[in-house]
Amino acid sequence: MIPSVLPTYSRAPLHFVKGEGSWLIEEDGRRFLDLGSGIAVAALGHSNPVVVDALTEQAQKLWHVSNLYEIPQQQALADMLVGSTFADTVFFTNSGTEATELAVKMVRKYWYEKGQPDRVEIITFTGAFHGRSSAAIAAAPSEKMVKGFGPLLPGFHQVPWGDMEAAKAAVSDKTAAILVEPVQGEGGINVMPDADMKALRQLCDETGTLLVLDEIQCGMGRTGRLFAHEWCGVTPDVMLVAKGIGGGFPLGAVLATEEAASGMVAGTHGSTYGGNPLGCAVGLAVVGAITAEGFLSEVQRKSALLRQKLEGLVAENPEVYESVRGSGFMLGIKCKASNTDVLTAAYAEELITVPAADNVIRLLPALTLSEDEIAEAITRLDKTARRVVKGA
Ligand SMILES: *Cc1c(COP(=O)(O)O)cnc(C)c1O
Repeated sequence: MIPSVLPTYSRAPLHFVKGEGSWLIEEDGRRFLDLGSGIAVAALGHSNPVVVDALTEQAQKLWHVSNLYEIPQQQALADMLVGSTFADTVFFTNSGTEATELAVKMVRKYWYEKGQPDRVEIITFTGAFHGRSSAAIAAAPSEKMVKGFGPLLPGFHQVPWGDMEAAKAAVSDKTAAILVEPVQGEGGINVMPDADMKALRQLCDETGTLLVLDEIQCGMGRTGRLFAHEWCGVTPDVMLVAKGIGGGFPLGAVLATEEAASGMVAGTHGSTYGGNPLGCAVGLAVVGAITAEGFLSEVQRKSALLRQKLEGLVAENPEVYESVRGSGFMLGIKCKASNTDVLTAAYAEELITVPAADNVIRLLPALTLSEDEIAEAITRLDKTARRVVKGA
C-alpha cells in the first residue's frame, strides 16, 4: 500500500522536534550536530532569535497580500539586494525551482524582444542541478530525474563540467544563455575555477549570450562572500537565489540587470505567494544579518579553520576519507568508503551531513557555526570513520 506521504524520498528514521543554532534535537532527546542546515537553508542556524523575531512580529501584523498591491517589505528586500549586488531588479519566488523557471523565461523573452526569437537555447553543464520542474530537469537531465517524464522541454544543451572548449563550441546563433552553478552542490561540491568563470563571462560578452548563475546553494554567504561569483570578480546578467535567503522560510529570488530583465513587463510573469510580507520580513532579517559588518569575515575565518581541520581528519583516516573540496562553508569530503555508509555512521555519532554525487558527503553548516562546534564536528567525523572501519 502506498504510504500516505508520496514515497519520493528514502528517509532516515530521525524525528527532529526542535532546533537550536547548529543543533537538532531528536524526539528521544539526542542532540545532533547539524552540518546540513536542511541543505544550506538554515543559514543563520535553527531558531535564530533575529529571524524568529522578524517572523513573529510580521505574523502579528500581516501575513499575505497579493502582488496586485505594493508590498513595502518586498520593496525593502529588493532594495537591499540591489544595493549589495550587480542586480538592478529582483523578482521573488517561493523556491529555487521557480527561480530557474523565471530565468528560462526571462532569457528567452530577452532575445524575442531583441528580434531574435530563434535564440532560445540554454547551455548547462554536466553534474548540474537546477530544480525539479519540467524546465529545470530538462536543463540538468540526469537519468533518475528525467526518465519517464518526457517529452522534456526542448532547447537545452549540456556540455561537460570544466570543459571550456566544449562550452565555446556549443555557443551558436541559437544560444540565449549559459546557466551554471559557480559551486555545484548536488553534483558533488565542484568549484568552478576563477579562470573558467572569467572565460565564460568573456564568451558571453563576445557572443551577446546572457550569463545566468545559479547561486541557490552557494549564495547568501555560504562561500564567505555574499555571492560566490564575487570571488572571481565577474558578474552575471541573471542570478538565481533561494535556500539560505529565507533561513527556513520558503523564499527565492531572481536578480537581474536592467538589460537582461527588459522583456519582463507587466503581465508576463507572476506568483501568488512570491514576495509576500511574511516571507520578505524574514528575508530582510536574514540578508541584514549576513551583510552586517564583520559577519562574512567571520564566515571566512571559521570556514578556513574547519577546512584545515578537515584536511587533518582526512590525512588520519585515509581508508574512509579521500579529500576535501569546496569553498567557505560549502565543503565536500570525497569518501573512499561508500558515502552512504559514512552518512549512516555519522547519524550514529549524532552528526548530520548530506550526500552528494561522486561519493561525496557535503558539509553545509549554519554560517554561525562556532569554533567549539567545529572541534566537535571533527571529533564526531573521526568517530564516524572508526565506526565505518569497524563496519558498525
Ligand atoms: C536546491 C537547489 C535548486 C532547487 O531549489 P528548490 O528550492 O528545491 O526548488 C536549484 N539549484 C540549486 C543549485 C540548488 O541547490
